[in-house]
Amino acid sequence: MSAARARGLWNLVNLSTPLGVAGAVVAGCPLRPGPHGLMRAEGWRHAFPGGAAFTVGDVVFTRPGPEVTEELWRHEGAHAAQYALCLGLPFLPLYGLAAAWSTWRTGDPASRNPFERGAGLVRGGYVQRAVRRGPGRGRVRAALGDRRDAAQAARGAGGAT
Ligand SMILES: [Zn+2]
Repeated sequence: MSAARARGLWNLVNLSTPLGVAGAVVAGCPLRPGPHGLMRAEGWRHAFPGGAAFTVGDVVFTRPGPEVTEELWRHEGAHAAQYALCLGLPFLPLYGLAAAWSTWRTGDPASRNPFERGAGLVRGGYVQRAVRRGPGRGRVRAALGDRRDAAQAARGAGGAT
């Protein structure tokens, strides 16, 4: 049995692909066979999640517009394999935590997200952002700076009247 076929059967049993199929039906996205044993749900129009495509089990949701490149198919195929490794649905909260961690460190949900890094940032169309020098330090400093600026502005305004 090929790796893609094994993944396909396992993602069926672990309910991640059935969730993807249900999502496609509810969203009105027609399902077609895609490459690498994946299914394609075409025409996702909602703003969330961002990006050109996203994957639920073996179902790859694509947006209207440019054709999906082979590189992006391989990226989404890697996510389908990650669902299999996470035993299906636990992928979703784990991915959410990873995206939150990456956003905290870099301001971007993909750059330090192990799932996106594993699937290939460049293949997925991401630009890697640098880690901030200290966790959240930039944001804290910016907030303090804003407060100081506001205090100075208030003093300045007070002096003028
Ligand atoms: Zn991805």
